[in-house]
Order: sequence, then C-alpha cells, then structure tokens
Amino acid sequence: MSDINFPQFRNILLEKDRIPRKLNENAEQQRLLFLEYIKNGKIKTEEVNSCQCGCGELEKIAEIDRFGLPFGSLICKRCGLVMTSPRIASSALPEYYDKFYHVLNYGHLHVHDQQALFRLWQGNKIYRMLKPYLTDNKELSVLEVGAGTGNVLKEFTAEAAKDGVTVTATGTEYSTDCIEECRMAGINIVYGDLDTMVVQGGTYDVLILSHVFEHFTDLKAEMSKIKKLIKPHGLLYIEVPGLCNIGNIATYNFDFLEYVIHAHMYNFNRTSLTAILAEGGFETLTANEKAEAVFRPCENPAVVDTSVNYSDIMAYLEKLTFSRGFLKEGIENFSTIRNNLKDELATVHRWHDHEKEEAEKFARWNEAEKERGDTARRWHEQEKKVASELMHALDEHFKTPYTSVRGKIDTYRNLREVFAKYYKRYFG
Ligand SMILES: [Zn+2]
Repeated sequence: MSDINFPQFRNILLEKDRIPRKLNENAEQQRLLFLEYIKNGKIKTEEVNSCQCGCGELEKIAEIDRFGLPFGSLICKRCGLVMTSPRIASSALPEYYDKFYHVLNYGHLHVHDQQALFRLWQGNKIYRMLKPYLTDNKELSVLEVGAGTGNVLKEFTAEAAKDGVTVTATGTEYSTDCIEECRMAGINIVYGDLDTMVVQGGTYDVLILSHVFEHFTDLKAEMSKIKKLIKPHGLLYIEVPGLCNIGNIATYNFDFLEYVIHAHMYNFNRTSLTAILAEGGFETLTANEKAEAVFRPCENPAVVDTSVNYSDIMAYLEKLTFSRGFLKEGIENFSTIRNNLKDELATVHRWHDHEKEEAEKFARWNEAEKERGDTARRWHEQEKKVASELMHALDEHFKTPYTSVRGKIDTYRNLREVFAKYYKRYFG
C-alpha cells in the first residue's frame, strides 16, 4: 500500500490531547462556549453509520478536529469518502452558522473586521476556469450559494466584463453580518440556501459553490436541488479543500488534524468528489486535487472508479504524517544547530577579544622597543662622536713632528684629555 513503512501513522492521526490550530482569545472563548452548547444539548450532534455510497464499513481516522473539538473523522473503505462523525445535526446548523462559525474560524467578532472570507482573486479564478466551457452568450446569470461578503461575485463580474460578458449575480447567505456586507456592496443577496432558491424558482447559467459543498449534510438531496437551479447547458463550479492537497497548503503544517473541521461534513479528494457528482447526475469537465472542479448536468455520466481510493488516501495520509514528523524533527534540529552556532559565535567573540588584548600588549611592547632602540641609537651616535674625537686626537699626535716639542706636548695633553673623557664615560 505504501512505500515508506510508517505504520504508527494511524495512532498519530488518532491523537486527541491537543488543539492542533492556534486560536486567538475570541476564538478560544467561542470554542469553550460551543463545547458547552454541545454538552448541554443546545446544539445537537449525531453519529454517521454509513457512507453516501451505501457502504457501512467505516474506519475511524481522527478523534478531534482542528480546534481539538470532539468531531472525529471516518473513511469509507469502499469509496474513500471521509466523513465527520459525530457531526452537528442539520436542525442545529442555522443557529451554529449564525452564532459560532465565523468567530471560531476567523477569530473576529464581526465579519466586517476582515477583508474577504476567501482569498482575493477567487472570483477571477473561477471565471477563468469556467471560461472554456461557456457558450457565446454575452449575458450570464450567476448564483453563488454561501456568498459570504460577496467578494467572489464582485470579482467574477469584473473578470467577465473584460470579455464583454454581463453578469447578473445573485447570492445566498445565512449570516446576517454577511448579508449586511453584501447589501452595502450592492449585491442581490437572499437570506437562505439552495432550498430558498428552489422555492423562489428560476434557473441559472452558472452555479458556484466555493467552499460550501463540504458543509452539506445530505449530498444527494442537495445535488437534486442544484440540478433544479441550473439551466440544461449550465455549469456547476465546486471547490472544496482537497484532502490530497493538504501537503501543499502551508497553514496545515502537513497535519491532517489542522485540516479537519467540524463544519465540514465531508472531506473530498478529486476521486471522491467527482464520483459523488457523477452519482448525482453531473459529468466532470475538469477537476484537480486542489478540489477545484467544473461540472455539467448529464443524463448518464460515466461512473468514476473508486476501488483504490481508500488505499490511495491512506497512503497519502501516511506520507503526510511522516512528513509532519520529519518537519518537526527538522525544526528541532534547526534549533539545536542554531544554539550550537550561538555557542561557536560566543567562542569566536572571546577569541577575538583575546586577540585584541594581545595586539594591544604587542603595540605597547613595540613602543617600549622603539624607545629602547632610540636610546641605543643616541648612545651609538655619542660613541661614534667620542671614537672619532679619539681618532682625530691620535692622528694629530702622530702627525706632529718631533722637532716641535711644545706641539708634541700639546697634542699629548689633548690625547690624555680625550682618553680621560673616554675612560670616565665607560668606567665611571
Ligand atoms: Zn463510500
């Protein structure tokens, strides 16, 4: 199944004595309040016993979610779909989204404290992904379910305008804060969800579910509503956080537990997402492991082969867990290396100080040497002077002829004086 042989990865995934994601104070308080609501039954939860594919053979792969909350994960051994269990009961979802979701996820008390719920350019990207499959129609009706603060629709509309395409955009939201933001931005926003839109009637050229599909509980029911809302040749864009893309997203730190969150009822990879959509009557036009996908309603879509998806996902999680351990070890090694370097640097500093001291000592010594040299030089100069005086006196003495006795005596006296001076100098 896997080539790295890291059997303990299941135990690591099943850890429950930690809070994988760092939370700010707002989020932490909301987490505690949410736990209280779960414990006293104000927010109801339910267990999942079988997969959407009908299989009851589910394996537990996590006990907690990214907030350390008791929402585990199950994987279907037949199709590889990952499900959250226990999960928040459908009846409790509207209250949950209005009260807990945003603060817990983003740490801000109000939606307008943050720029966009999803990263910027999401709307531009979605338009570009849909573009190859759009007809020549210069007018597009677009519905986004879970429109957040309306960023995706605004960007989508602006990107389409570059091609001369006019977009009529509609969005739905549960969050009253988000609705207010959309209205202020001039977006046609409806309080509600797919049900609300089905009741309203009408069909759209494009339906966008950006980070929404994984929040649905009953996928088959939601897909049949989606079908009612899309025109026969319309397009469905679905994006979810890809299960086999965790390793490419820095904020997950190769940690499956930083990825899972109680608000996501399902976690898909490319195979499980396209398989579910095929069952719901949609053919896949394009899809990747980031779990960005474009679908079209279809009478008889080709069945997606999921037979090796379970083992593919388990192998992926094994590698991911191995990478996480490797990364942690790397960080620890790095701090050891850093400390060693610090020690070595301190040694170099001490050594440098010592060198400086030595150099100063040498400079002082050099000064003394120079002084001694100068003294010697001066002394030598005087020596030379005395010696030449002596030589001169001797010369004079021997040059003076014997005929001049007086002259001889004078030079002899002179010679004696010079000798006396010399004697006095050297022998005291
Ligand atoms: Zn299944």
